[in-house]
Formats: sequence, C-alpha cells, structure tokens
Amino acid sequence: MIMPADAAPPLSSAEQLRYARHLGLPEIGLDGQHKLRQASVLVIGAGGLGAPALLYLAAAGVGRLGIIDPDQVELSNLQRQILYDTDACGRAKVEAARDRLLALNPHLQIDAYPEAFALANAARLIAAYDVIIEGSDRFAAKYLVNDACVLAGKPYIGASIRAFSGMLAVYAAPDGPCYRCLFPAMPAPETVPSCAQAGVLGTVPGLFGVLQAHEALKLILGIGEPLIGALLKIDLLTMRFQKLRLPCDPGCPLCGESPTIHTLSEAAFVCAASADQPDAALPWLSVEASRQRPTLRWVDIRTPAEFAAGHIPGAIHAPLDQIEDWAAQVGPHDHLLLYCQRGGRTVQAYHRLQSTLQGRVSLLRGGYEAWLQGMSAALPP
Ligand SMILES: [Zn+2]
Repeated sequence: MIMPADAAPPLSSAEQLRYARHLGLPEIGLDGQHKLRQASVLVIGAGGLGAPALLYLAAAGVGRLGIIDPDQVELSNLQRQILYDTDACGRAKVEAARDRLLALNPHLQIDAYPEAFALANAARLIAAYDVIIEGSDRFAAKYLVNDACVLAGKPYIGASIRAFSGMLAVYAAPDGPCYRCLFPAMPAPETVPSCAQAGVLGTVPGLFGVLQAHEALKLILGIGEPLIGALLKIDLLTMRFQKLRLPCDPGCPLCGESPTIHTLSEAAFVCAASADQPDAALPWLSVEASRQRPTLRWVDIRTPAEFAAGHIPGAIHAPLDQIEDWAAQVGPHDHLLLYCQRGGRTVQAYHRLQSTLQGRVSLLRGGYEAWLQGMSAALPP
C-alpha cells in the first residue's frame, strides 16, 4: 500500500545524495522517490532476466524486493546473470543476490525465498507485493504467474527471450490483457527448448531484464505509457523494434467474458513437467556411475554446433532430430548412454528410442555440464 509522501519519513541526507538524479526529474522528484521507497516488487526467477532487473530496482530505491528461486549459482550462469560473481558459484542464488543487493543499497528490505514458485506458495507471495516481475524460463511457471496475478488483480511484467530476440508486455493490469489472451494454453514442454538448452547471447536477457525493471518503475511512479495492451518485440540481430497492439481476448479462459479458470488449482500445471526436471523414473546414470561401465556407448544428441564446441571424448554424435534414423544402425548388444547439455533433451530422445532399443538406453544425469563440472573440479579455474 503506497502512503502519501507527507506521511512518509523524510529522506536522509545520504538518500538525497543517492537519488539526486531522480529527485531532479519533475516526473519523479521527492514524491516519486517516496513512492519507490514504499513500493514492493517480487522478482520470480533470479536468472538472466531477474539478475539485471534486481540490480536496477535496488539501485532505484524500491523499498522491498522479494526474490524467489530454488537454484544455486552455476558457472554457466555467469555469462549473463551479472548479479553474481565467480565466488558465488555453489551458493543459493537468493542468498548471493541478497548480499549483492544490500551491498549496492543498504536502505532496502530483501525477502529471499530459496524455493520454486509453485501452486502451494503462488497466491500468498503474489498477494504480498505491489508489482511482479516474471523472469522464469519455464512455461509452467509463466502460466502460474499469469493466473495468480490475474486472480489477485496484480500487474506483472512478463518477458520471453530466445537466442537473439524477445518480447515484453505488462499483463494482468486493470482492463489489460493477460498472457492467456495471447497464448490460451500451455505448449507441450518438449516443443519449447529452455534457454539452458537453446543458448542465448548474454546481452539479450540483460536488455529485457532492464526493460522489465523499467516498466515496474513506471507502474510504481505512475508515469509514461506502460506496456499495457501492447507487446514489444525486439530482434537484437537486426535491431528491429516492433510495438504490436495486444487486445484483451473476450474468449480468454482466465480473464475473458466466460472464464473457465476461477482458481489456481483449476489450471493444468502438474502435467507440464519441465525439461529441467526430467522424469525421475527413467534410467538415469550419474557421471561417476557411467564411468564404472566401460561397455556403454556414449551418444551426444546435441546440435552439430554444440558438439563441435566440445564433447565427451569418444562420444558418438547423433543429433536429436535424426535420432530414429541413426538408431537403425545400432548393434543388437549395444547399450547406449545418451547425453545432451543438461539432461532435458535426453528425455525426448529416450522416448523416441524406446520402441526400437527397449531396455538398452540410459541417460546421463545433468548432461554434458555435469561431466564438465566433474572435470573442472579436478582442475584449477
Ligand atoms: Zn486473458
């Protein structure tokens, strides 16, 4: 709840200096800085989008920041997640983020939630913040954030990115569209590669995360034209910026005229297992266990570019899009160990090979990155 500026404690001399570039703007000034100090933003996912968003929100003086993310900092995050440094590898992201943000701005309250955004905590967390930033790379989480925000009447800034492009909008604002107006139902998880699989130039999430923070600040300050009812698409290879109209869909299952979703539990999230949380029932082998079995044929199912950039010595290359053709020439006594970058794509490959190679296919837990981690643990950085 935002208090009027005259009821708020005055800015200290240190705060006046810190925010001098805001205070000099007629659109912000003292009133705006008070609004920022009394505002709260929940950032869901402290990754490629959340990391730069959090840095700018903290620098701007947003008084209370919530960060929810279940993951630890990994070496492969540092190419784009500029909130973290090399020493933070292995730490919980929310803890490392809190330390970094408080070092940047000690006037803030940082709430750290080292857990996944899920059905069990969604409504409670959304209710506790004014504005939400959705920075997840998982489709199930995107839909859960959308549905929880619409049902709670809280606006959120959503972004989706690919290798060199992305899109951004403010969803669930009063009279504005929601994500389901654009994409009514969740795509099948195997049809959409996550960033961990597909690769991304680090500056792409950087730009979109900054734009998310920027839209959050505009919403809090009540200035300009927030991206409500509009979708910003940016191709960062050609530098083509497009602002498309994004109207509310009267047939939207969530915010339309005759909605079919009235509670969070009515939406189908459970069946949308992410590629990053592969099926536990499959025959996974750890890197160590795989090394104990010298007869395994290691099969790299990643793209030619990924294979060329580095692979496990001795591995055969059989790209996922040709895996069935390749499997036709596998010998009758061969037992395969499939691996991809992190483990997600091997689940698809496994299911596609089940009919021809039943019982003779295992999957490398954690993929090539787990193997690299085992190698780098034995080497100086
Ligand atoms: Zn809608």
